[in-house]
Amino acid sequence: MPTTAKWRFAGSSCDLRVVRMNEIKAFIDGEGKAVIKCPECHEVRRVDVTGYAKLERFVRFNVKCPCSNTYKVVLERREYFRRQVQLTGMCLIQNGAQGVDVYIRDLSRKGLRIELMKDAEITLGEKVMVEFRLDDEKRTLIRKDAVVRSMRGFHIGLEFFSIDPHNVYDKALGFYLM
Ligand SMILES: [Zn+2]
Repeated sequence: MPTTAKWRFAGSSCDLRVVRMNEIKAFIDGEGKAVIKCPECHEVRRVDVTGYAKLERFVRFNVKCPCSNTYKVVLERREYFRRQVQLTGMCLIQNGAQGVDVYIRDLSRKGLRIELMKDAEITLGEKVMVEFRLDDEKRTLIRKDAVVRSMRGFHIGLEFFSIDPHNVYDKALGFYLM
């Protein structure tokens, strides 16, 4: 499949975060590939974007589809990519007074989505601490403060309270998500 042919960097200097009309949003996966879909013929392609991953936070480029349609893609950089995971861990709530066993459903450098194993009193905006081990070779421990950003039943969206490239857990997460 000629996935890398016929697309090029658009080089726009305006606010790249704004997704305009006729633009497709794509994310970089764990292998440095982005899945993009032509809005005309709906052909799905997985293109190698490792060269773009280190550039800006957002990258915009054009794709010329074999169906002759040309469309724009906004690529979101790797660190915001959510990786689906099957991990378990602990969420400490109410200032650490209660620990709840959780499944970890996805993970990014910004935060994670968890599912509670049992009912617990969690409030939107609450600061919690999550602790879990990655499924890498060393089963690396991650321990991060996070803020509750969304709640839907037992599904909770958490955003890390801080991201520090020198923090040992942030480093481990970054390596895991590469
Ligand atoms: Zn097409």
